[in-house]
Amino acid sequence: MKKYSSFSDIQSDILSQKITCETLVAYYLQNIEARNAELNVFTSVYADEAKAQAKIIDEKIKNGTQGKLAGLVVGIKDVLAYQNHPLQASSKILDGFISQFTATAVQRLLNEDAIIIGRQNCDEFAMGSSNENSTYGLTRNAQDPSRVPGGSSGASAVAIQADMCLVSLGSDTGGSVRQPASFCGVVGLKPTYSRISRYGLVAYASSFDCIGIFGNNVIDVAKTLEVIAGADDFDSTVSKNDVPNYTQEILEKAPQKYKIAYIKETLENDGLSALVKEKTLSKIKSLQEAGHTVEAVDFPLLKYLLPVYYILTTAEASSNLGRYDGVRYGYRSKNVSDLKDLYVKTRSEGFGIEVQKRIILGTFVLSASYYDAYYTKAQKMRRLVKEATDKIFENYDFIVMPTTPNIAFKIGENQTDPVQMYLEDIFTVQANVVGIPAISIPNGTDENGLSVGFQIASSHFQEEKLLKFANEISN
Ligand code: GLN
Repeated sequence: MKKYSSFSDIQSDILSQKITCETLVAYYLQNIEARNAELNVFTSVYADEAKAQAKIIDEKIKNGTQGKLAGLVVGIKDVLAYQNHPLQASSKILDGFISQFTATAVQRLLNEDAIIIGRQNCDEFAMGSSNENSTYGLTRNAQDPSRVPGGSSGASAVAIQADMCLVSLGSDTGGSVRQPASFCGVVGLKPTYSRISRYGLVAYASSFDCIGIFGNNVIDVAKTLEVIAGADDFDSTVSKNDVPNYTQEILEKAPQKYKIAYIKETLENDGLSALVKEKTLSKIKSLQEAGHTVEAVDFPLLKYLLPVYYILTTAEASSNLGRYDGVRYGYRSKNVSDLKDLYVKTRSEGFGIEVQKRIILGTFVLSASYYDAYYTKAQKMRRLVKEATDKIFENYDFIVMPTTPNIAFKIGENQTDPVQMYLEDIFTVQANVVGIPAISIPNGTDENGLSVGFQIASSHFQEEKLLKFANEISN
């Protein structure tokens, strides 16, 4: 079977019965079989189920009763609940856990006849930037297996890169969809906070967490978003705003000339590699040549973004992860003497080092003596960052910047230097701190074919405009 890189090609061949869902599923299973042992992308492959589902959908296609996403083969990050399937957030602490219900986003895909092909590796509890912190072992970048794919949804990006499925669902709390998309040369969207229900998403930092989407192109991502976004009785924080028909917007509305800002401090940042800087500047130049206005703006708060992000997310994580105690579900330490010993041993053995570090940091910033110095201050700074960002959007349609300061780094390279690892998120966390949507699209490669990403952010609930523009300027 030929390689498909867009859902519309798949759909037209499926509807004209040139291919069937069964052959499509067999094709992806073959690709998984070929490289999964090396790259470590899928931690469960639902082969029999996907084949059976494909058969049912093929019948529906014959009768003309298929859903909107018939022929879409999807992989899901191991933080999304899928009833009667394992769910571990790549952590030992959830050893043997089976979901009792299905995440709303996953259910909506199933309702439209998408096929879930398997569960994807990630950093434990979505904490990480390299997919190296996982109870299942690290995931490799398919462009260069000696390099990381990014994280925490690294495997979800590699699944697209290595053609193991057409779309992946990941999660983005501080860049976990956009950074791996950038490292793997695919498209990755983090929508507005609350655009997609978080019901069935394992919580890391609830006021930041968003389900995000990976695809080969912006239109596939838009099509998926329009199915999974919107009000949900199971999540009281989800937005009730109508969900626009994003695909129609992209395909039918005439292109426009936009006012675009880039943050001066991002391009002056010490950690920015010469290559990423050059690629970003040349993209900006091409936007100007295409008739858009692109101007530099000051954003002196940039240096506060990572401290704000790491104080608030660790605080939220320390509380969210309190539920894993070895009593109700998941891993339980053996050889314990009393209840306290059970908690201590279970949590010490069940959580990896990075997760333990964040729980301790979060507990510290929430402790009575340090609450005001760290947690309250970070909350105030979050507000200032939001106001300063909103101010930019009073004058501009988009903010553009590199997705990451560097290309994919070597496996192990940042393991001994957590600050360097945290700096990977310097350009992605703003969107989560503020809650705005942002997308990473490919922006060329270095001389060895390693991808560079370009990030575009818009104001809250402006996904229509964002996706349309991202599609227009995609190479
Ligand atoms: N890399 C960031 C972190 O480690 C972002 C993670 C995410 O978005 N889930 O927290």
